[in-house]
Amino acid sequence: MIPSSTLPPYFAPQVEKPDEESHQPQRLSRSRRNVGEPARYWPQNSTIKIAIYDYAVDDPYVLAIKKAAAEWGPHINLRFEFVAGEDADVRIAANPTLNHTGQSMVGTAAQEVPSGHPTMTLPSDHTAQSFTATVLHEFGHMLGAHHAHQHPDANIPWNQASLDRHFSPSSQRVNWLPLPRSDQYEFSPYDPDSIMHYSINPELTTQNLFHSRNATLSAGDIAWANKTYPKVPHTP
Ligand SMILES: [Zn+2]
Repeated sequence: MIPSSTLPPYFAPQVEKPDEESHQPQRLSRSRRNVGEPARYWPQNSTIKIAIYDYAVDDPYVLAIKKAAAEWGPHINLRFEFVAGEDADVRIAANPTLNHTGQSMVGTAAQEVPSGHPTMTLPSDHTAQSFTATVLHEFGHMLGAHHAHQHPDANIPWNQASLDRHFSPSSQRVNWLPLPRSDQYEFSPYDPDSIMHYSINPELTTQNLFHSRNATLSAGDIAWANKTYPKVPHTP
């Protein structure tokens, strides 16, 4: 069994854009960076072996994952090695019931998952427009990042009754609500543009707040990656 503390975060269910006139969406202010968990960062300059169940390493599905994941590459000192078979640090299962969502263990918590079980799931349709964003998000978790909207400074006015209607208490804690201000986490300034930020449906908030889904790595995501896995060691 996977300890509850390592339950994989899920990407948010796809949320429809609100009617602009009736909802008067309010954008979040801009700032930078991300939320990480240092105890689960991978060793510097290491190679992460990645297996994808049921696909040959040259299958278009695998190539689509590699292409999307490679966007993290220039900003980290880790190498992704896609391997055949199941002997890997990260094991990805394609799930046909997933649409715009996935799930992943955070960082080295993947190593706590028994062999034979996936550490990440992704939608099986790699031609979907959202596929790249989903891969970037789940690989962010795999690198050790948590959700940007769970930053304690995000100050998202959640409508608790609405959250209760849609999500279990456990899902709310793992995926939606603010993380505790704990040394367990590394908090850079709240970054609403992060790939690790969910889209937010105004119905889930008390102040009609709307946040669109981010599709690319933000400057904050890149800053976090550079700081977490620096290509050039920091000098004192
Ligand atoms: Zn997530």
